Amino acid sequence: MISRRNAKIPQSATVAIADLASSMRRAGEEVVDFSAGRAAEHSPDVVNQVAMEAMRTGRTHQTEAKGLPEYLEAIAAKLRIVNRLDVDAERNVMATLGCKQGLVLSLLSTIDIGDEVIIEEPCFVSYGPTIELFGGIPVVVQTDRDNRFCWNEADLESAVTERTKAILMCSPHNPAGTVHTADDLQAIADVAIRNDLTVISDEIYEAVAWGGRKHLPIYSLPGMESRSIGLMGMTKTYSMGGWRIGYAYSSPERIGAMTKVQQHLMTCASSFGQLGAAKALQPEVIESMHDVWEDWESRCRFVTDELDKHDALSVSMPEGGFYAWVDISRTNLSSTEFCTRLVKEHKVAAVPGAAFGESSDGFVRITCVRSWDEVHKGVARVIEFVDHL
Ligand code: PMP
Repeated sequence: MISRRNAKIPQSATVAIADLASSMRRAGEEVVDFSAGRAAEHSPDVVNQVAMEAMRTGRTHQTEAKGLPEYLEAIAAKLRIVNRLDVDAERNVMATLGCKQGLVLSLLSTIDIGDEVIIEEPCFVSYGPTIELFGGIPVVVQTDRDNRFCWNEADLESAVTERTKAILMCSPHNPAGTVHTADDLQAIADVAIRNDLTVISDEIYEAVAWGGRKHLPIYSLPGMESRSIGLMGMTKTYSMGGWRIGYAYSSPERIGAMTKVQQHLMTCASSFGQLGAAKALQPEVIESMHDVWEDWESRCRFVTDELDKHDALSVSMPEGGFYAWVDISRTNLSSTEFCTRLVKEHKVAAVPGAAFGESSDGFVRITCVRSWDEVHKGVARVIEFVDHL
């Protein structure tokens, strides 16, 4: 009674490991959870206050499918000021129920049954299953550490067929931590333009690029405005994952097509969620987040420095995002064996690289932005585990 396309997709490995860690914790075990992609902080209080006030004052009804004008204005202003994009609140932006739902709207307005979408490997665990659920075919193009986990233009070009409709990319990258440079993006844009493809750009980690780097949206490259969809949101960088709120920006035609899907699928993002998110995008709130984000950079540096010192591990500081993508190949364990033993024997949850693509079995993903206390404890336990292998 279950559809073939549902039966075919796996569980989300990141959610499954985080659930295991929570159930161990409920059973009284003291587990450090480096698996879920969430920081130790909670959503900012000024943002919470606005949402609570919205609820108290009756702003509890459905909104326009595209989003509340206040939220759309805040999104457009933020994209203009922070990301230097030429966008208009009425034409180029819309509210989504988080970045994943932005991906749903993007795919449902871009692909038909049997169309191919090129994805990276490694990539975020939900891309392949989401494409498949909508009748598309994910086509994997490998990246590797020698090339900073960026696509080589020739490899990307050779994956294009007459069924290819879109390229789905992520920067700053989960799990590999790559922040694409203008040259990296130009190679992707060239392939997209030559082959008349849409680029869906997952930019959920856009606010956190390290070492003085800055996130550059592919939308800003010449010729890409009409063929790219950018997905951003509050989940990661504002610790607002439970709010299920984000936004998409694109050409008016694509935003129109995505809004039509939203009308039928979800109606709209939550009203008070949009108002809270509008507050989060105000310049003074963004400014107030910088101290938190700088501390995240220190946590990422600590985790990667400490783990990289171990002979059996190798890991670079991420260029952005908040994961350590640790090469465990010298331990001679598969990533699943490594993570299963790590959580059972040393009470640290991490995600096996294999979840991000078959070729990533030599890696494990660790979330670096848990509290300093957890970071210190968790890193010491990982080292103890690897010492005793
Ligand atoms: N994209 C990437 C690359 C992610 O890492 C995540 C969260 N793990 C998401 C999307 C999901 O974002 P949201 O919770 O806003 O739907």
